[in-house]
Amino acid sequence: MAKKSIMAGIDIGGTTTRMALIDENGYFLKEAVLPTQNFPLFDDFAQEVAAIMQRLLDEVSEEATCQGIGIAVPSVDAAGRLESPANLDWGTVDLKAELAKFFSLPIAVTNDANAAALGEMTYGGARGMQNFLIVTLGTGVGGGVVIDGHVYAGQNGFAGEFGHIIVEPDGRQCRCGRRGCLETYVSATGLLRTVLEMMAKDLRKSSLDGLSAEKIDSKVIYQHASNGDPLAIAAFAETGRILGQALANLAAIFDPEAIFLFGGLAEAGELLLKPTQQTFENSLLYLYKGRIALRLTQISQNRGAVLGAGALARRRLSH
Ligand SMILES: [Zn+2]
Repeated sequence: MAKKSIMAGIDIGGTTTRMALIDENGYFLKEAVLPTQNFPLFDDFAQEVAAIMQRLLDEVSEEATCQGIGIAVPSVDAAGRLESPANLDWGTVDLKAELAKFFSLPIAVTNDANAAALGEMTYGGARGMQNFLIVTLGTGVGGGVVIDGHVYAGQNGFAGEFGHIIVEPDGRQCRCGRRGCLETYVSATGLLRTVLEMMAKDLRKSSLDGLSAEKIDSKVIYQHASNGDPLAIAAFAETGRILGQALANLAAIFDPEAIFLFGGLAEAGELLLKPTQQTFENSLLYLYKGRIALRLTQISQNRGAVLGAGALARRRLSH
């Protein structure tokens, strides 16, 4: 029997690294998870990733042949160099070259949001689309741009940093050093900031009252909003208002067929989508009205980037 052609995907996140062996249909033959935070030194991390990946490859060697490795990681440039990523303490690392020391397979690298775009395009709701955007709403906010069927990387590989569009002059302090970035409002941490501000200012009663700030995160806010808490619902509405406006601005630049929302905060579903949709449609230039679909991703947020990393490898490395 002919062996299956598979790709290895690696999604290096600030908290968790996910690895998978993926077949042509997006099916995971094997997968593994590694806590990134346990590795303050990149060399130790690389060794561990290589050891786990080798074990996974050995386990399927009878039935499948791996053709390449795709890697998704935040803050990576077009050459595969990591430039002091915000959530990892490794400094500047030549990721592609360092990992190539462990593998005889070809390696392709892209940032996590571009990988999510590739995953959506290959296996998700963007199948068959030529022009779309993906906005990742997690601890931070990122974006992927697909133009004429290709992920648009930009001159340096940094295109689509939607999280750092300034939406509020002199607004909230961003971890990038500037103020008023979209990410400080519509990320999981941005939602929390909105809730804490509302709790400090608002006289409305909330089921969140009495909880200390450390006890509240986006999941807790989601639960309270789902249970009908007006303050939590208002925080989602405010988040959606700011996001919808930003997306309408992106529409004027890219004229996409659809915009997909991806990441932890997108799991709030209608609570976030409804107010976002409303402001989005109201803010759109007439040329685009009714023409751009706003959708939640169809791929599970845990698997999106690793799936996209595999799709990247398949596109760039298979022959
Ligand atoms: Zn910023």
